[in-house]
Amino acid sequence: MMQVPNVHDAESIPPAALEALQELMQSGDLFRYNSEDAPVSLLEQEFAELLGAKYALAVSSCSAALFLSLKALELPRDARVLIPGFTFAAVPSSIVHADCIPVLCEVGENYRIDMADFEAKLDGVQAVIISHMRGHTSDMDAIMSLCDAREIPVIEDAAHSLGTTWNGRNIGTIGKIGCFSFQSYKMINSGEGGILISDDADLVARAVIMSGAYEHTWKKHKGPRGDNSAELEQAFARWQNQLPLYNLRMSNLGAVVIRPQIPELARRVRDGLSNHDYVADRLNSSTPHIRVPDPLGPERRAPDSIQFNLVDMDEAETRAFADAAAARGVKVQVFGLSADNARAFWNWQFLPEQYDLPQTRAMLMKACDVRLPVRLTREELDVITDILLAAVTDVKARAAA
Ligand SMILES: *Cc1c(COP(=O)(O)O)cnc(C)c1O
Repeated sequence: MMQVPNVHDAESIPPAALEALQELMQSGDLFRYNSEDAPVSLLEQEFAELLGAKYALAVSSCSAALFLSLKALELPRDARVLIPGFTFAAVPSSIVHADCIPVLCEVGENYRIDMADFEAKLDGVQAVIISHMRGHTSDMDAIMSLCDAREIPVIEDAAHSLGTTWNGRNIGTIGKIGCFSFQSYKMINSGEGGILISDDADLVARAVIMSGAYEHTWKKHKGPRGDNSAELEQAFARWQNQLPLYNLRMSNLGAVVIRPQIPELARRVRDGLSNHDYVADRLNSSTPHIRVPDPLGPERRAPDSIQFNLVDMDEAETRAFADAAAARGVKVQVFGLSADNARAFWNWQFLPEQYDLPQTRAMLMKACDVRLPVRLTREELDVITDILLAAVTDVKARAAA
C-alpha cells in the first residue's frame, strides 16, 4: 500500500529566488527604501498588475495590511466593524489593534456569511471586513449592494484567497481594499508577509505613510505602470507629516522570495482546484456521512485544503472520526473541537463584546479541515480520500455493532 503523503511540507521555492537572493546579499540592500526599483517596489507593481488593481502596498503580514486598511479608512476610535463569525483570530485582532470594535455575524453550513444576519447587523457598523475563510467566497454581489447602498466601505480579507475569482473578477478587487498573506500556509509563501491593493490613491497614500514611509521615502511608490503618478504624489503631499508611522514594512528579503512564485500562481490555482474537486466528488459520492458544500455559482476557488461537514454524527462520533483518520495517518481538524482553536469565535476572549452565534457554533462542531497541498498526485489524493472514508466506516461500524 502507498505511504500516506506528507501534507505539511511546503512546495520548494523556485530556484530563481536563490539567484535574486545572492544578488541581494552581494548588494546588502535589504531595506526597501535604499534603492530605486527595490524588489519590494517591483513586487508591488507586479502584484497590482496581476490582480488588476491600481496600487499595491507590501507589508509585514496580512494582519498588518488589515490594520493599515482600517487606519487608512480613518475610522474613529470605537468604530464598529462587521466580520463573519468564522475567520482566523488575526482578523478580530487587527480590528482591536486599530481601536475599533469587532461585530460578528453568523456563517452558514457552507462556511459563507449568512446574509440575513449580515444585513440585520449592518446598520450601526462603519466598516466591513469580508473574510474569505479558507478561500470560501461569500455572496459578494449581495454584500456589495447592501454596503454600497449605505456607503459602508468593504475590506476583503483575501489572505487565503489569492487566485480565487467571483464572476471572473479577482477576489480582493471587489471591495475598496483587498488584503493578502504570504505566510507559509498560503498560495505564495515567504514565511511572513502581506500586501494590500486598492484603486483609491488617497487611501493608499495614507496606508503607505503609516506603513513606515518616513520623510520623502513615499517618492519611491509609483502609480500603475505608464501612469505619471500625479494623483498619488498629490495625495502624499496632502498627508505628509499628518499620520503616525507604524513601521510595518516588508523587507527586500521577503520580496525576492515572493516574486519568482508569481509566475507559478496560475499552475498552483489550477492544480489546487482540480485536486480539491477530485477529492470532493469522491467524498460526496461515496458516503452520506461526509458533505463538501458546493461553491456559490459565481465563485471559482483556489483551494489548498478541503473542508467538509460530518452528517448524522454526534460529538463523540465526530471525535472518533478524527481519531480514526489520525490513526490511519491523516490529520483532520474539527474547527470547534480542537482545544483553543484560533478559528473558533468563543476562543476570542480578548474581544470587547462577546457573541453567541448558535448557527456558526453548530457548523464549527462538525466542520472538518484537511490540508491538500497543490503538489499532491492523484494517487496521493486517493490515499487521503480512502483514509477519510475508512474512518467513517470505522465509526459507523462501531455504532452499528
Ligand atoms: C492567514 C490568514 C490571516 C492572517 O495572515 P497573516 O499574514 O498571518 O497575518 C488572516 N485571515 C485569514 C482568512 C487567513 O487565512
